[in-house]
Amino acid sequence: MTEQLENLRNFNHYKFDQNVKVTLAEYIWIDGTGLRLRSKTKVFHQEIKQLSDLEWWTYDGSSTEQANTKWSEIYLKPVVYVRDPFRGAPHILVLCETYLPDKKTPARYNFRWLAQEIMEKAKEFKPWFGIEQEYYLLKRTGTTHTWPLGWPTGGFPHPQGRYYCSIGERNNFGRALAEAHQRACLNAGLKIAGINAEAAPSQYEFQIGIAEGIEAGDHLWLSRYILERIGEEFGIDINYDPKPIKGNWSGSGAHFNYSDFKTRDQGGYEYILKTLIPELEKHHEQSLFLYGANNQDRLTGAHETSEYGKFTWGDGSRGGSVRIPVITKELGQGYFEDRRPAANIDPYLVGSVLVDIALLQGTY
Ligand code: ADP
Ligand code: MN
Ligand code: MN
Ligand code: MN
Ligand code: MN
Repeated sequence: MTEQLENLRNFNHYKFDQNVKVTLAEYIWIDGTGLRLRSKTKVFHQEIKQLSDLEWWTYDGSSTEQANTKWSEIYLKPVVYVRDPFRGAPHILVLCETYLPDKKTPARYNFRWLAQEIMEKAKEFKPWFGIEQEYYLLKRTGTTHTWPLGWPTGGFPHPQGRYYCSIGERNNFGRALAEAHQRACLNAGLKIAGINAEAAPSQYEFQIGIAEGIEAGDHLWLSRYILERIGEEFGIDINYDPKPIKGNWSGSGAHFNYSDFKTRDQGGYEYILKTLIPELEKHHEQSLFLYGANNQDRLTGAHETSEYGKFTWGDGSRGGSVRIPVITKELGQGYFEDRRPAANIDPYLVGSVLVDIALLQGTY
């Protein structure tokens, strides 16, 4: 770790001369795993003032499991840019969609185009999201093996109970990384709502939101990018497996807090209860299909989860598929929390499922 931090310091010595007017644009995209991100840098000899200043670019899709060698080129279409918290102003991070050479057919794991269509149709209802992204911090223990930070190598720490929102050397593993991530996200201008240490040792959570429509997914992906980059500096592997360690250790989820014009209005609680809950139940099986791979390992009914095969809900319950916060009941309006999505979801898909069920009569 010390060595890596030293390297970082060294390359930050290479400041730009005041006369060199360049913008480094880091083009970022989702690769053929559907979960991992890739990025490369494009130098612009001008200031970037609007999205249209950023041209489409290409990459070798055969190296990212998105194309074969013969027809290898995939297009990058810039869709959102934010400040680059690593290089500082005027440099930027550019989130991109991916397209086949016809520039029309979405490449593998580009679901944003669909989410955008869905969010556009539901725009007048102002769907809001708050996403709770959980993750484990893993350290390298050999050439290929990883194990949670702070755990005895190959062994286990004290059982769960003392780690959630914990303080103190024996309880909290990873605060420095989580804190650095929070600050970097704020520097970038992302809507991060907070962080907390989670129930398992070396497990953390950050929240994105409140964000409306497509922005929730955009900001989650960009914050994941920043998290992995900070992981590089700390020598920590960020892990989004729904159940990374078998046994009595919490899995990682991505709870979706959802509201729209109708749930936030007078009578919203009744509306959630009488209209949305039955609809969510009806689509339970279909929804789970898009709520993360291997999520059945996590949704066991233990560790504040519901059972995979059964839709349940409750006021203030952390054992249900869906929780209606006590504050929503109290005020008679507000939001609900879908606790089923796993940490490895594509937020564009989960957001689309919720908006489709709540606002578009399940037409998608
Ligand atoms: P939990 O108690 O489940 O751990 P958190 O505080 O981690 O809850 O996350 C709750 C999230 O819900 C926050 O990101 C917050 O921004 C979001 N949220 C609050 N109100 C709304 C709302 N009306 N619509 C959508 N999301 C909301
Ligand atoms: Mn090359
Ligand atoms: Mn939370
Ligand atoms: Mn949590
Ligand atoms: Mn939650």
